Amino acid sequence: MKKHNFSAGPCVLPKEVFIKASEAIIDFNGTGLSLIEMSHRSKDFIAVMDKARALALELLGLEGKGYQALFLQGGASLEFLMVAYNLLEKKAGYLNTGTWSSKALKEARLFGEVVEVGSSKDENFNYIPMGYTIPEGLDYLHLTSNNTIFGTQIKKFPKVDIPLVCDMSSDIFSRQLDFSQFDLIYAGAQKNMGPAGTTLVVVKEDILGKVSRQIPSMLDYKVHISKESMFNTPPVFAVYTSMLTLEWLKNLGGISAIAEINEKKARLLYSEIDLNPLFDGFAKKEDRSIMNATFNLTDAKLKDTFDAMWKEAGINGLNGHRSVGGYRASMYNALSLESVGALVDVMSELERKG
Ligand SMILES: *Cc1c(COP(=O)(O)O)cnc(C)c1O
Repeated sequence: MKKHNFSAGPCVLPKEVFIKASEAIIDFNGTGLSLIEMSHRSKDFIAVMDKARALALELLGLEGKGYQALFLQGGASLEFLMVAYNLLEKKAGYLNTGTWSSKALKEARLFGEVVEVGSSKDENFNYIPMGYTIPEGLDYLHLTSNNTIFGTQIKKFPKVDIPLVCDMSSDIFSRQLDFSQFDLIYAGAQKNMGPAGTTLVVVKEDILGKVSRQIPSMLDYKVHISKESMFNTPPVFAVYTSMLTLEWLKNLGGISAIAEINEKKARLLYSEIDLNPLFDGFAKKEDRSIMNATFNLTDAKLKDTFDAMWKEAGINGLNGHRSVGGYRASMYNALSLESVGALVDVMSELERKG
């Protein structure tokens, strides 16, 4: 039986995407070849790459606005340094909202001065800092829109007149934003789009080419743009599967349609966390993520019982990250409202048994 998969990433994808992706492994588009044995320079695969890039811009509402979409390798973790390599001349600002921001900040320090404009480390990253000041003279400001591990999410983005860079690995395509306020967005595929192995980078072309250092070709956004995201052999399966997910999302009605469903899922789970005396939310209420909900049992003695119950209900991937403990329910786009319902049923059943 298919599990209710609350895993933080790699994560659940739409069933039709799993089916189409598996068919393409055997015979892609009736070509008599597997997707993973054919040339990436074939017209069939070029069409996939072009479509994936176009769909990403279309869904974000960034077509014709000077942006390019790239499907690169190395994960979001490589973007931590690529961003700095390409954009950091003297000084950059980073808002430190968790493990991933901290890692991004650490890599950027290899390239120039980094100002931590704000941090929520004092409370183990259970909130989004507010009221921080952004110093003059920054090359860019880097934010992490959704903190996968701690379950917080930025709801209101600062207005700045410098390039705004955002790691959206765990909430891209999940909620409606004015994406044109960002100059560079990156996201590892495996949280809301596809299998691990590719990273979406959406970059406004006019912010590039401003640093004085030499950039190795593979790390140079301009090189990847000029080669239409095919500078070297792309991860064809990860790109194709991501394309299928983006197609699925478009057919569903795009980001506004999925955002409504995501809101419903989050409301259902958070209201159970708030009403059920056996559970406590980890993140500050106003900063709660609609993608990753973090929570604890109020009585640790119930752990074994609760764990056995959710496993029995066919639920997977609910254990919290080791730096937070407790539980984390990741409710990415492809997780159904029914799956959240199954979890809420188990939580209220635990209260009844209490
Ligand atoms: C998972 C995650 C990363 C790391 O992604 P990799 O593709 O494994 O390098 C970075 N940032 C955020 C917000 C994440 O959720």
